[in-house]
Amino acid sequence: MSAALDSVPSMIDRIRHDLVGLKMPRALEALDHIVRRLEQGELSALEAIDILLSEELTLRENSRIKTALRMGRLATIKTLAGFDFSFQPSLDRDRIFTLTQLGFVDRHEVVHLLGPPGTGKSHLAVALGVEAVKAGKSVYFCTLADLIAALSRAEREGRLQERIRFFCRPSLLIVDEIGYLPVIAGGGNLFFQLVNARYEKGAMILTSNRGFAEWGDVFGDAVVATALLDRLLHHAVVVQIEGSSYRLRQHAELMPEHVRSKALITPPSFAPPSRERGRPPKNAQFSTSSGAA
Ligand code: ADP
Ligand code: MG
Repeated sequence: MSAALDSVPSMIDRIRHDLVGLKMPRALEALDHIVRRLEQGELSALEAIDILLSEELTLRENSRIKTALRMGRLATIKTLAGFDFSFQPSLDRDRIFTLTQLGFVDRHEVVHLLGPPGTGKSHLAVALGVEAVKAGKSVYFCTLADLIAALSRAEREGRLQERIRFFCRPSLLIVDEIGYLPVIAGGGNLFFQLVNARYEKGAMILTSNRGFAEWGDVFGDAVVATALLDRLLHHAVVVQIEGSSYRLRQHAELMPEHVRSKALITPPSFAPPSRERGRPPKNAQFSTSSGAA
């Protein structure tokens, strides 16, 4: 055996030791197999280094994404690939795919996903959140009820500003289920303080089964609703889904006609919120932002 080959085991031991020191568990695991392929002439030295490093990088990237999804409360993972656009013909697929490029996050815009229950609002919001996490952006997902409960608790404990700063940290804040539950007294005011703090500083995705004209009812305060909408519609993308519930698709024939086929939502409106309820508009989607998707 040549001197060079004699030193191979000790060199591999040293590499192994270094990989432990560098905290590179996946590279350590892959080392023997890569060395074997190298010795058999299946890989060049450069290819071996490349594979070793990319194995480790993939592991790190996956665990970063896993941690970020957990921290961001994106528990049930939904993807765009898992969304059946043919079930929601009113939805412009290109428009949703433009959103996945995340320009709205960089521009600190607000995306409104509006539609009746079961039409995929939360699914799309989570899927966009997952895309943002993959792109290295910080995301936090909550329902409006949870958000207001957290702000209200913080206010009672004298830590409201601290809590608002917490909700200002993620570059994308997703607030789900606006309009499903009545907002507690003072809740609209707390939400306004947060929205105002994030205004033009961070992006949001909001989902709602209620039209903007109903926000006075949703928040129990027409003045707060007007102030909220003033901020939330300034740099905004409004996507309205006018379809039937995906949840109920197998039981459609059992549902009352008005639930099956009608959007239970008033149109998005840029007029100040009023207490009147209207009918859905024919134009399913529009954007209020200048040139943004
Ligand atoms: P919403 O938030 O509008 O009430 P969800 O997004 O929670 O509705 O959708 C209800 C369920 O149906 C979820 O499990 C979601 O993944 C699924 N779903 C809704 N729309 C679609 C769709 N077009 N393609 C695939 N799954 C869908
Ligand atoms: Mg939902």
